[in-house]
Amino acid sequence: MSAITVTCPYCQAETTVTQTDDYAPQFHPCPSCGRNFIAERHAGGLRVMRIKDAPCMSNPDCREVETSATCEE
Ligand SMILES: [Zn+2]
Repeated sequence: MSAITVTCPYCQAETTVTQTDDYAPQFHPCPSCGRNFIAERHAGGLRVMRIKDAPCMSNPDCREVETSATCEE
């Protein structure tokens, strides 16, 4: 596991997230604004995105729900 500094996609505050060794996207709560954002690991680092903006394959909630092809809020 490694700690990586990212910028919150909601409030732009810098926060540190601890990423596991797998590449599955994870929710992280922002300590500044309290909202959850998604951090997804890539070969070159970490990508963060708002839950609304995340494609289904990058949304942990959506990945768990395999009932349809669409990802509605
Ligand atoms: Zn924030």
